[in-house]
This record gives sequence, structure tokens and C-alpha cells, in this order.
Amino acid sequence: MKSSILIIYTGGTIGMKQDPVEGTLKPFDFRQILEEVPELGKFALRVDSYTFDPLIDSSDVEPGLWIALARLIQERYDRYDGFVVLHGTDTMAYSAATLSFMLGDLAKPVIFTGSQLPIGTPRTDGKENLISAVEIAAAKDAEGHAMVPEVAICFGSVLLRGNRATKMSSEAFDAFDSPDCPPLAVAGINIRYNRTLIRKPSSWDLPLRVQDRLDTRVSILRLHPGITPQVARNIACGPETRAVILETYGAGNAPSKPWLTDIIREADRMGKVLVNVSQCKKGTVNMDLYATGRALKDAGVVSGFDATTEAALGKLFALMGLSDDNAWVKKQFQEDLRGEISK
Ligand code: ASP
Repeated sequence: MKSSILIIYTGGTIGMKQDPVEGTLKPFDFRQILEEVPELGKFALRVDSYTFDPLIDSSDVEPGLWIALARLIQERYDRYDGFVVLHGTDTMAYSAATLSFMLGDLAKPVIFTGSQLPIGTPRTDGKENLISAVEIAAAKDAEGHAMVPEVAICFGSVLLRGNRATKMSSEAFDAFDSPDCPPLAVAGINIRYNRTLIRKPSSWDLPLRVQDRLDTRVSILRLHPGITPQVARNIACGPETRAVILETYGAGNAPSKPWLTDIIREADRMGKVLVNVSQCKKGTVNMDLYATGRALKDAGVVSGFDATTEAALGKLFALMGLSDDNAWVKKQFQEDLRGEISK
């Protein structure tokens, strides 16, 4: 039987085409996907599409879109071998990361892709990205199981774990990277899969579990020289905030000024979940290395290890949506749940 793939179009540059009359970029009708990308017809696949309404620039992505996406995938899970999500590049890493925490016991590929140039322009990277994403979403191993049963981003020449990826370039065709995790696959003449790295579900036959309750009461405190106590306190101790991501220096370090430690302690006393993620794109948080990191640990901050900010955010949204118990959230946050950290 032919494999079948569902392409889900949420918006973004990839689905745009020049309107011949007005000369402006407009989303094209994805029901005509085979007309636009006839190469897809060469695969022995059934390719269906689903278009979100309204289509959005991904700068407008909200948790509601993630919930709708997760539910759509759950609803059609048994009908398709894999899913390709077309998404604007700007927030693709946030969406892929959060979806990875929302989808449990995933045994089928959910491959995000997009493009830097619209699919209707001559030098577009959209066609290549889409064709590779579809091929990867349909790929099976010798036992007939999905080759990549993960939420991933296929972009340029690489397939990256969704919760490890970050947008690195607003111009290059290789726009994404996952600095702390090698690619799950590299697309050259052949698509070469990194089979030892790709995660497998505990069982191939479990129904998809969807965690569609998200608690977004998270603030991000990015440290920088010159930060004032007022600014830091507003971000860390606001009554609406349940968790704070501290974006720290290097291996998880912060200025040693006593007022900063006092603010962190105050946030901790308020019961907030405080997590430490480094501003460095590569390497991990280790709060035992320097006194400035140690002070954070002693004040109640837990390590985000080598998580990206996008992954830390999605992980907190999903964990906090599951439970009101902040001690449990803190504990779970330090676990490797979906391959998002190296421990
Ligand atoms: N602003 C667009 C978006 O993220 C850019 C893109 O699609 O690449 O939707």
C-alpha cells in the first residue's frame, strides 16, 4: 500500500506566490500543491494537504495554533504515515520545540519546514525543503517503521531535532542549526540518517498522547551588563509569572551583585520555578563551576543544561500545563524528556 503524507500549511513565506495582476505575494491554494511542485508526484505516495485559516506570518504564532496543530495530528494520526508542517521560519523553532513536548509516544514523523524565498520565485529554497521534508516524513526502516518518529525541522541540507534547533540566519538557505546536537539526517545526493541519534518510541503501537494544556506564565530574564535591580525585579518577581528563564552568561553565571541574588531569592520564596539557560549557543550550564553560578543554585535556580531558550520555554509551558505543583515541574524540567538536553 502507498504511504500517505499530510502536508499542513500554517502560513509563512513558503506558501507564497506572486499575484500576476497585483504583483504582491499571496498564499497559494495548497490543494493545487502537485501543480506547484510536480516533483512530489514522482514519489509513490499519497499526498494530502490541510490549510489553516487564517494563514499567518509566524511572528503571530500563539499557543492556540500549537493546540490546533496537535489536535489535528491526533485526529488524523491513523490515516497518515507522516506529517509535514509548513511554517514561517521566524518562530519555527518555538513551534517545533513546544510540539515535541505536547506529543507523547510519537511513532510517526512530524517534520516542520518552510523557506527563505517564496515557492513561486525562481531561486526558491521552498521546493527543495518541501520535497526533502516529504521524503523524510515517508521514510521507513527495514522493519517498516518510521525512520524519524520525532518532531524535527528539515531545512537546507539538514534535518534537526525540533527541540534542539534555533534560527541562525535571516538570509542563508541553511537558516537553522542545532549547535548542541548533531543533525538527525543530512541531505546530499542521498539522505543520510543518523540512526543511533534518532529517538524511538517505547512501543510502535501506542496511541498518540496529546498534552494540550499549556501554561504560558513564563518570563525571560536575559542578563546583561548594566541591568538594574528595578528591571530584574519586574521580570523575575511579577505576580503573573509562574516560571522565570534566566538567560545567563557562559556556563550559567550571573553578576555577583547581592541585589541580584536577593531578587532571585525573593522569586524563589514566591514559589516560582527558576531555570538557568546559557546565552551561549553551544555548551551546557554547570552551576558548580564558578561562585557566580553557585550563588544562583543556592538561591533555588535549577539547571536547563544545554537546552535552547525555545526548548526551555516549550518544556515549561507543557509541564506547567500538566501540573500546579511547582516542585514537580522543577524536577521534571531537569529530566531529558524528548532529547532536548544532553545529560
Ligand atoms: N516572517 C515570515 C514568517 O516567519 C518569514 C518566513 O516565513 O520565513 O512567517
